[in-house]
Amino acid sequence: MLGPPGAGKGTQGRRLTAHLGYPSISTGDALRAEIEKQSSPGRAARNLMDAGELVPDSLVNEIVQARLREPDSRNGFILDGYPRTVSQAEFFEQLADREGIDTLAVGIRVEDDILVARLSRRWSCARCGRIYSRVQDPGAGPGVCDDCGAGLVQRKDDRPEVVRERLQVYHQTTPLLIDFYRRRGMYAEVDGKGSEDSIFEAIIGIVNGKQRDRTASL
Ligand code: AMP
Repeated sequence: MLGPPGAGKGTQGRRLTAHLGYPSISTGDALRAEIEKQSSPGRAARNLMDAGELVPDSLVNEIVQARLREPDSRNGFILDGYPRTVSQAEFFEQLADREGIDTLAVGIRVEDDILVARLSRRWSCARCGRIYSRVQDPGAGPGVCDDCGAGLVQRKDDRPEVVRERLQVYHQTTPLLIDFYRRRGMYAEVDGKGSEDSIFEAIIGIVNGKQRDRTASL
């Protein structure tokens, strides 16, 4: 899943997980867990993440490769926030070729102004990662998660000045990434302005179309 911060990759990733039964793998969540553990990758990532910069490709490539060895991703998986650079996409392409993984890149398109406003309202569950908007769920933030009861937290990098830096990084790197997948006929895009349900329906339509194409070519 490609898209700027706040486009809904995490929310849609969770819905896809529930619908398809594939795990959703977020490199941002994995890095935040490393920071929490104060591990050496966590220490390497912390300042870069707080500043809205990308962490080194080798760090996230390693995280994804290790995560894909776990048995729950054998039948399929959803990547949220990875790849973010062409070098990561090349690394993943090699891995996918080796492992026989069929790839589809789905981009969620949303304008910057909407994103800054959305992210300033975003709260997420510290335990299960469910995402809340204070406007959609009045009284929920900074309350507790409806699903698991853990406290809701606001991300440090959702402050407007860091969001602007993240968007700048996004606009610098993503066109090349979109081009990478377009040239391979693996890219599809949905409009991220609609309701959560309509975006989900659009993504499922693309995934089902891809599965039909694959079955037809077998
Ligand atoms: P996210 O939760 O996807 O918005 O990611 C939060 C932050 O984690 C980003 O601003 C980056 O600092 C870092 N990050 C997550 N995924 C990647 C990636 N694939 N490549 C480089 N940095 C990443």
